Formats: sequence, C-alpha cells, structure tokens
Amino acid sequence: SNKILAITMNPSVDISYPITHLDIDTVNRVSNVTKTAGGKGLNVARVIHQLNEPVSTSGVLGGTIGDYISKQLKEVGLQEQFLHITQESRNCIAILHDDGQQTEILEAGPALTAQQQEEFMQHFTNLLSEVSLVTISGSLPQGFTADLYAQMIEAAAKQNVKVILDSSGKSLTAGISGANKPLLIKPNQEEIAQLVGRKLKDLTDLQEVLLNEEIFTNLEWVVVSLGKDGALAKVGQEIYRVSIPKINVVNPVGSGDSTVAGLAVGINRNETIPTVLKTAMTTGMLNTMEKETGHIDPSLFDEYFNKVSVEKLN
Ligand code: ATP
Repeated sequence: SNKILAITMNPSVDISYPITHLDIDTVNRVSNVTKTAGGKGLNVARVIHQLNEPVSTSGVLGGTIGDYISKQLKEVGLQEQFLHITQESRNCIAILHDDGQQTEILEAGPALTAQQQEEFMQHFTNLLSEVSLVTISGSLPQGFTADLYAQMIEAAAKQNVKVILDSSGKSLTAGISGANKPLLIKPNQEEIAQLVGRKLKDLTDLQEVLLNEEIFTNLEWVVVSLGKDGALAKVGQEIYRVSIPKINVVNPVGSGDSTVAGLAVGINRNETIPTVLKTAMTTGMLNTMEKETGHIDPSLFDEYFNKVSVEKLN
C-alpha cells in the first residue's frame, strides 16, 4: 500500500463568530456562523487529498460533535477511520473582530481513560498494515500519557511505516525521545527554541545546532519552517536552505500543516530531497494564499513550485 494516514488525536468543530465588537456582560448576537471540522491532522489530510495522494484520517472522536466531524470528512471525500468513543469531542470558538483581531475559546476536549488509550493503540496498530506513512499532528487529549506518540512511532517502526511528527512541548520531546525515531519533524522557530532551550541567533546558529545537538543528529529529517523566509532543513548530515518568493498572504493559519502535507506526499512518492522540500514550501505558500485553513489551489502548484529554490549549504 502507498496510503498516508493522518492522525489528529483531539479534533474539534471549529466555530467562527464574526462579532465586530464583543460586549461583555450582555447579549451578543451573531449571524454568518461557520462550523468546520478542525484539527491540525485534518488540515494535513485535506491538503494531501488535494494533491491526489491516497490518504485516510484517524485519532479519537465521539458524541454528536464527533458525528459532525465524521460527516464533514466524508463529504470532502476523506476516509474516516477514527476510534469512536462515548464522550463528546470538543468545540473551538474563534470570535472574529475588526482589523483581524481574534478572541479564541478552546475547549480542552474529552478526558480519556487508560483503557481508551490501549484501545486506540490497538486500533492504530491495525490501521498500520494498510499504510506506508503516518503523519502525527498536534497535542494529546486529556488522560492519554505523554509518551503516546513514542508508542505510536515504535508500533509504526515494527511495520516499516514512516512517521512524520509535528507537535510541540512535551508530546514532541517525548515523541523524539523513544528508542525508535520519527523519520521527520517540522518544528517552526518557536518549537526549535523550545527544543534547544534558547532562542537561536541566526541561520548559522541554527545550522550548527541541527548538525551538532544529539536530539537532531538522531533524526533523518529536520525541516525548520521559517514562515515568509522559507525553511532550513537537515537531511542526514546535509543542510539545505530553501528560499521562497514573496507572495500575497490572505490567511497564514494552517501553513505549517500544509507544509507537513507536502513533505508527506513528496516522501511517500520517493521524490528527491530538493523536490520534497520544494513540494512542502509550495503547499505552505499556497495555503497562505487562501481564506480557508488547510486548503490549497492545486492549479497554482507548478507555477509556485518553480519559484522555490533549494541550495545545499555544506
Ligand atoms: P502554523 O502554525 O501557522 O500552521 P508554522 O509556524 O508551523 O505555521 P510557518 O513556518 O509559519 O509554519 O509556515 C510554514 C510554511 O508556509 C513556510 O515555510 C512557507 O513555505 C509558508 N509560509 C508561511 N507564512 C508565509 C508567508 N508570510 N509568506 C510566504 N510563505 C509563507
């Protein structure tokens, strides 16, 4: 099989309320409400699907909110292979004000049990036999242990399935600390600083750290995304600088997830290192050019792909 499995452990229904002025301690009425299936791994899956690569989605969902997410995934043609639980999945609310200001109310989501963690691991292990690559994105649900991603990476290694891990904080640290490593991580500048324990001075500093710090030398691919400045990547012992053109940004939210989608597709298609990196920068850029989060216009792919350049630095 050459299918990709995109994992979202704590998906949500993302509700957006356009309320120019939010008044406190009184009634606010709102129309033009949108409610969409959200979660970083779902953004990844949507973009992989738009690139016509076979993809399925999994994680944990439940209740009527879970049913809504499931229905929405099927509507866009995504295979839904979540573990279904009895607890309700979460809503996340974004209140959109003037001038692009935004107030977010993020539910923690269901509190899960140790038994549900075991059920999920069994469910995930079964799915591994159908796929060649797994992407793991975002944070863990309450109640699951911090080493869950490490456990998933170990299970994937047993079946020779590649793993791309895009997380932050404890679940990222734990995810790269197990005996088996993910094939690739895609930290942004903030996440790199968290991992190293200090803010990096410049790209030379970043390059030194990628080549010398054990947490990175143990990993085959580390792709550090730099927003409008493209990316710096370490593959094996080689460093690549990826440069992108200046573009018109409409909504940058989800560009990290779209970058992960590009990396997953490139690697799953056994593309060369420069092509994988260019694909990822292209999907990241195309996402910023769309209003919708985790969405690209595939008809623009070739044009922007050809504007990305990759230079080997060492
Ligand atoms: P997010 O958390 O918003 O999903 P991130 O911080 O994980 O994103 P970024 O490094 O901001 O990831 O962006 C990922 C990629 O998307 C970049 O490497 C680039 O290709 C593209 N991108 C993001 N912002 C811009 C921008 N302002 N201009 C051009 N490309 C961008």
